[in-house]
Amino acid sequence: MNKTDLTNLSLPQLTDFLVSLGLPKFRGTQVFAWLYRPNVTDFSNMTDLPKDLRESLAARASFAWPQIAEIERSNDGTAKFGFKLKDDNYIEAVLIPDEERNTLCVSVQVGCAMGCEFCLTGGIGFKRNLTPGEIVGQVIRARDWLNATTDATPGLNNIVFMGMGEPLANFDNLLVALDILTEQRGLDFSERRITVSTCGLVPKIIELGQTTKVNLAVSLHSVNDSIRSQLMPINKKYPVDEVLEACRNFPMPKRKRIMFEYILIRDLNDAEADAAMLAHKLKGIPCKINLLPYNESAGLPFRRPADKTIELFQKTLWKAGYTVLVRSSRGADISAACGQLAGKMIS
Ligand code: SF4
Repeated sequence: MNKTDLTNLSLPQLTDFLVSLGLPKFRGTQVFAWLYRPNVTDFSNMTDLPKDLRESLAARASFAWPQIAEIERSNDGTAKFGFKLKDDNYIEAVLIPDEERNTLCVSVQVGCAMGCEFCLTGGIGFKRNLTPGEIVGQVIRARDWLNATTDATPGLNNIVFMGMGEPLANFDNLLVALDILTEQRGLDFSERRITVSTCGLVPKIIELGQTTKVNLAVSLHSVNDSIRSQLMPINKKYPVDEVLEACRNFPMPKRKRIMFEYILIRDLNDAEADAAMLAHKLKGIPCKINLLPYNESAGLPFRRPADKTIELFQKTLWKAGYTVLVRSSRGADISAACGQLAGKMIS
């Protein structure tokens, strides 16, 4: 008999499954809560369930989180986790510790179909979507590792969907994973502490805003269609103005802002005029801008701009009234920085 994998079920879905086995509804909440406690690996750990129920669940269902195959530590404290999946595919997640925040950058696909030119993940193409359990499992493994290896308070408390793959291209599984992450009896993350990043899949941007309250990040990298199409093929389908229109219509409570990611690449999108055009195009969108000086990777032709150029770009946006941060690269020495994931798959 094929066993049902409980890691792929939200609380309502798990409850429906248990009801279909003839169990009362409250067992759904009970079993669900057990799945997300630290160090629960077997139904026998669920000690407040009757023994015969544990045995019958073990016969019909299973749960197992992806195994950590290896961990690389950066000089700056960043940790990159490599996970080997059941089908031998390999994915990565990156833990970025900070004073008040411990952020996990999570993957949603094996590879990626979007083919962004600056990104190593894009270079390997698309293999498959991750299941909800494989997405949530990265969080569980990183949480447990963090708790076991450091006395870090407040623990893992921030999640960004900026790892391998395009989250909105794995939309249904993303939604189930978000349900589990934010469910009080699951991992109990506040939606304010979760950010989903997209390269600009316009129809799904609005749907995400209508279905969830998580933060939105958009990888922009240029507001010039010809440059953006060169960097990100998706721009040919959803050009800059359509992406920005979707952002204007993204349902957001007051004071919440969209985060625009802008990788600065020498002599391509880093001129003062590019900054001025960016400022003009973003007018009216409550936002903040993250500037990411390009992390040079072997095999890719792009270069990091000079520090002075980065400063001037930032100043131009400041003068136009935007909140702009230049994000320092974390984990570049272990290929864990933005756009560098999947080195293992390439090798
Ligand atoms: S940047 Fe994101 S969307 Fe683009 S190829 Fe890389 S993983 Fe895919």
